[in-house]
Amino acid sequence: MQPAASIRTASDKNAISGSAPAQPAHRVTQRRPAYIAQAVSYVIDGAILFAYAGIGVTTVTTGLVYLTLRLAVVGVAFFLSEARVTDRFRDHYLFVPLSLVSITIQIGAIYLVPQIGFYFIAIIFVVLGFGALRMSARQTGIVWAYATLGLAVLFLMTDRPIGIPMADATERALALACFVSALARCAGAGLYGSSMRELLYRRSNDLAAANARIEELAQLDELTGAYNRRYIMKCLGDEIARVQRGASCCVALIDLDHFKRINDRFGHPIGDEVLRTFAITIFSNIRMVDKLGRYGGEEFLLVLPETHADQALQIIERLRTAIEGLGWPAISPDLTLTISAGLSEIVSNDTPEDLLARADRALYRAKDAGRNRVLAATQRRRFG
Ligand code: GH3
Ligand code: MG
Ligand code: MG
Repeated sequence: MQPAASIRTASDKNAISGSAPAQPAHRVTQRRPAYIAQAVSYVIDGAILFAYAGIGVTTVTTGLVYLTLRLAVVGVAFFLSEARVTDRFRDHYLFVPLSLVSITIQIGAIYLVPQIGFYFIAIIFVVLGFGALRMSARQTGIVWAYATLGLAVLFLMTDRPIGIPMADATERALALACFVSALARCAGAGLYGSSMRELLYRRSNDLAAANARIEELAQLDELTGAYNRRYIMKCLGDEIARVQRGASCCVALIDLDHFKRINDRFGHPIGDEVLRTFAITIFSNIRMVDKLGRYGGEEFLLVLPETHADQALQIIERLRTAIEGLGWPAISPDLTLTISAGLSEIVSNDTPEDLLARADRALYRAKDAGRNRVLAATQRRRFG
């Protein structure tokens, strides 16, 4: 639709000026939960490593070095985020570098502490699961290839005995805790993904509704709520095409009688109110398929699909009586409003101009004959 195409967006302007696009400030707050979630995840990993140190499988130093390293990495990312240094990057969460560094730490940890290597492998699943939420397919592929390479080097080029400590009940329980915590985080990533999808779905629904509303408003006459001239002419074109396929349709040009007098006597705002009341009265007396458009000033075009001239005459006559019967106690008890209408049935090979000229002639005959009446066009052009 025309108006939408002419709206120039902020990014278009940036593209024209060549400057870097200004990033919205809310990105900083958007990133915070992601870093906090990562830090919490690392603390869980640290706690598990300390538990392994407690039963003598690893050392406290291992846990300390591992935790410090990971928190330091996310700390740097958090600092850069808060300073809005990362705003200019497409991957403003820094998920690609963070995932690569994290995988490097896991590969190193598997090499140095192979006895609990299974856990670091599980963490690689978590890293990729979370990373993929915000990375493009290409970025995810790169991170996956990097992890594959690291694991291939470890598995094929070293003989480190990667294990799961299962010697007693405590070790078995800790191994279970490792898997359960990693699984929970993978499930969390999945849930976060589906909540984002849900949000996207709702947003696109809202957008569709807003677009439909914009389109509707672009079709309407502001004052009366009838279709505007452009849209009613489009409807007329559609109906002419339908008649050419065998349907029937009538149109009526309806003009308010001596409307200038109402304006002159009561003022323009009251005249507007009369126009609105006229339109509401017509709306409440026509079918859903019928279309009322404001053709200009106080002249309206009514399109009546699937209607022959004799039926249309009855319908417009009913509308004329309804308007004549309106009471105007809020304006003036002696005010009466009447309409005159010229009716014409669409015939094959009609052009909108032919059709409207016929209806207009009928309308003017109605005016000449004393107004407050409906007349059908007498001259029809028939082809074939
Ligand atoms: P006739 O019966 O011959 O149609 O007489 P008329 O007075 O209705 O016709 P005329 O063409 O002389 O005047 C139409 C008036 O309608 C003049 C114009 O100011 C008024 N009009 C047109 N659009 C609006 C509008 O949006 N609001 C108001 N209040 N008046 C309007
Ligand atoms: Mg008039
Ligand atoms: Mg007029």
